Amino acid sequence: MIKVLNPADGSVVGEAPQMTLDEVKAAVDRTCKAFPVWSRKLAKERGDLLRRWFELVRDDKRSFAEIMVKENGKCLSEAIGEIDYGLGFIEWYAEEAKRVYGDTIPTHAGNAAVLVVKEAAGPTAAITPWNFPFMMITRKIATALAAGCTMIIKPSEETPLTAYKLLEYARKAGIPEGVFEMVTGNPKEIGEVFTSDSRIRKISFTGSTAVGKLLASACGKELKKMTLELGGNAPFIVFDDASLDDAVAGIVAAKLRNSGQVCISPNRIYVQEGIYDRFVAAVTEKVAKIRVDQGLQEEFVVGPMVNRTGYTKVVELVDDATRNGARVALGGKAHAKGGLFYEPTILTELNDNMRVAHTEIFGPVFPIYRFKTEEEVVKRANNSEYGLVAYAYTRDLGRAFRLSRDIEAGMVILNSGSVGTASVPFGGVKHSGYGREGSYYGIEEYLEVKYVLMAGLDR
Ligand code: ADP
Repeated sequence: MIKVLNPADGSVVGEAPQMTLDEVKAAVDRTCKAFPVWSRKLAKERGDLLRRWFELVRDDKRSFAEIMVKENGKCLSEAIGEIDYGLGFIEWYAEEAKRVYGDTIPTHAGNAAVLVVKEAAGPTAAITPWNFPFMMITRKIATALAAGCTMIIKPSEETPLTAYKLLEYARKAGIPEGVFEMVTGNPKEIGEVFTSDSRIRKISFTGSTAVGKLLASACGKELKKMTLELGGNAPFIVFDDASLDDAVAGIVAAKLRNSGQVCISPNRIYVQEGIYDRFVAAVTEKVAKIRVDQGLQEEFVVGPMVNRTGYTKVVELVDDATRNGARVALGGKAHAKGGLFYEPTILTELNDNMRVAHTEIFGPVFPIYRFKTEEEVVKRANNSEYGLVAYAYTRDLGRAFRLSRDIEAGMVILNSGSVGTASVPFGGVKHSGYGREGSYYGIEEYLEVKYVLMAGLDR
């Protein structure tokens, strides 16, 4: 069995099966066997089952949220927020199942018709991370199931309890064995089973760029389709002409979400020189008032890092920056609570050579860089191997347009710190991966286009 620990105090909160390779392969077999029946169900039938699942989970949100607090460390209000976000995908794709349209194309031959149909890609697999134990799963499986694909999921071994509870509720809703399977055990071995089995036609992965590349090269051998949502190094740019209040509210909410352990977390905060000092003062004042604590209470609190590796990374990045001349405006050290708690930290007087400038921090650290011109900041923002999301605050319409055009990212968010919802295409470019999740673009990832020529129609 795999022990699941509470990052707030190290206590054991549950366990998940350490499956053998044979058990994993048997689950893959079930996923493949279920495909012909599931893909031929009426879209409405698939949508109805998803809808039923949505309703069962929605009516029991609190018990899901409490599990998430215990295994992930995020606070209750954030857990509920994640559940609403994640449920949005089940609801959206329950509806979208019925709207997978094809095409007809004017015929190029006499007595013939040209049809374009969209078919389910096949049995699929997914590997998900620990930072959104609920939403990462619903976002993938709801899309796959709506499209007519079956799916086997390996959730993170850090947070499998939410995942297995989702599976339990899916079964209660009538989503059968095989259509939705779940395995836990040795991630590398399970990954190898998924990538090497030619019956699995597509893999969706969210996690680190390193593991994403590993899986992508293994999938290359089988020419298996992938959706990859990998690391980020999001710039958050505030121009002199921005609304200071909005920008401050945006950065605090976006940065402290899940204690900064989010791939779209603002990682490089660039503030124009005319507004820099006021921005730093306002953010410091606001962040200083936010409590750090375990999450089982209604108030928003900053929780612990999920594990020792994540914690150590944050410590090292802050230490490296301060050793090289950064100034600490707030925090900068382990929290008095000890364990995996780190103080929300604001750093100024940074430069682009520090490790913190080109590493995904995954912690409650605000590195605030100074810039002079739009041209300069766009160049610095794009100077990253990643390209997931970029945020910018400005009230100049022309500048907003230029930023949306010039920034290399899958998502550009102007005058807001909030990105995701079921109806928009989420995903990145460069080393942040490829493919999109959410909206009608998301379901296309699970569909194959088939061109059918029907000739000889008058005979
Ligand atoms: P993080 O650093 O955020 O945990 P990872 O990429 O290591 O990111 O983990 C994301 C998911 O990938 C988790 O479910 C993890 O178990 C899984 N994983 C880690 N290593 C491998 C691997 N070699 N093959 C397949 N999956 C893996």
